[in-house]
Amino acid sequence: MNITDEYDHLAPKLIGKKEGTFAYFTVRDRWPKIVTSLVDQLARRRAELIEQYGSGVERDIADILEKFAKLRYEIMTDKALCNLCEDRLDGRKWREMLNDMRTGIMPNDTEELTYFKGPWLFVECFLYRYIYSAFNITNHLGQMDYFEESKKKNFMDHLPQIEESAAFLMKISAKDAPVHELFGINTILKSSLWGNRADMSLTGGDDHTMKMSSIAASSKLADFVLIDDVNELICKVLGPLQINEKKLKNRRVDIVLDNAGVELAGDLVLAEFLLARGFADKVIVHGKAIPWFVSDTTENDFNWVVDQLKEAGPESTKFGEQLKKRIENMEIIFKCDLFWISPHPYYIMEKEAPELFEELTTSSLLIFKGDLNYRKLVGDRDWDLDTSFKTACRGFAPCPFFALRTLKAETVAGLSAASIDKLLAKFDEDNSWMTSGEYAVCQLGGV
Ligand SMILES: [Mg+2]
Repeated sequence: MNITDEYDHLAPKLIGKKEGTFAYFTVRDRWPKIVTSLVDQLARRRAELIEQYGSGVERDIADILEKFAKLRYEIMTDKALCNLCEDRLDGRKWREMLNDMRTGIMPNDTEELTYFKGPWLFVECFLYRYIYSAFNITNHLGQMDYFEESKKKNFMDHLPQIEESAAFLMKISAKDAPVHELFGINTILKSSLWGNRADMSLTGGDDHTMKMSSIAASSKLADFVLIDDVNELICKVLGPLQINEKKLKNRRVDIVLDNAGVELAGDLVLAEFLLARGFADKVIVHGKAIPWFVSDTTENDFNWVVDQLKEAGPESTKFGEQLKKRIENMEIIFKCDLFWISPHPYYIMEKEAPELFEELTTSSLLIFKGDLNYRKLVGDRDWDLDTSFKTACRGFAPCPFFALRTLKAETVAGLSAASIDKLLAKFDEDNSWMTSGEYAVCQLGGV
């Protein structure tokens, strides 16, 4: 992996050791809390797991608990990252990356690759990969999704909001819909954007129910969208795609998902809308191969949400049936390339995952959902706020791409002078707007 480059002095990578930053708070408080919640879950579900797998699972639970006690201690005392103990999946690759990082990237030889001192993006990905590996090497719990309960609860806690989105979709997806199409596109995209607020990694897995529905948020929270390229997206990408519906075959849109639950339901509304209104012939949704960043979407989450839409009401039931047909006809396809669970920024996708990159060059539009995708797009760096999005993405452009992200990390690029002035007037030196999830960007790149 490319470990140092000319951008390092221009915009340093975010790291956990800088006190007062959100990265520091994450390493100090959020990560130990996530590990503790997994320990609590295993203790609470012990009897249930023994009933399911037999008494042999007790050894597995004990092994995991021992690893997690050590992990928690090592995070809190800023110890060096250990190795992964398995070769399955991409374990070997991770060991190579850890070695590269230990020898190459740290600012000087006296610094070790530790939880606070290592690049935040790399260490955070390592943390979730290590947690997976602790379960994966056990005899019985290798396939367990230890974040499943909270993802399902998140969906169930938002049934009225999901029904509202499905009803809106049904109203506007008919070809003779009475709602103006531009209003429809804007609402659907913004609704998909604001679904990104319900992120359980932010709260360490605690309940995070959105009070305002995503549909309501799409109009009411306009002032909180710091960059809004939706009109440009319509003019440059979506409009031409629809106009050429008859001429172009295999028009493909890709959505790189973030969270399951209510956010995924909103993203599927977006996918169905693009297909129903003639913007795409197929939509590929990209999820995670393993449980990731607490609430991220796996294939099981995807299938479960499609199946459970019927719980939300009559419009959601119709929507769910429609989705099942789309999936059957291969108009909506779920994929989970291992690159999405790597710690790599996207500008090195072409080198690190050439097949995926090549595939994405055939897409008409690539939509990135959420904070982690955005961090990887801009390399998780402390950019000056007015750095252009193009510079921050460093040449990544397999096709036009569009980031829908609520801000939960201290990295953003491409803000206008007017936006920066407004933020400075309101927040002065306080950077909390970058991490509260209240502000958002809809940014177009690759055109
Ligand atoms: Mg997420």
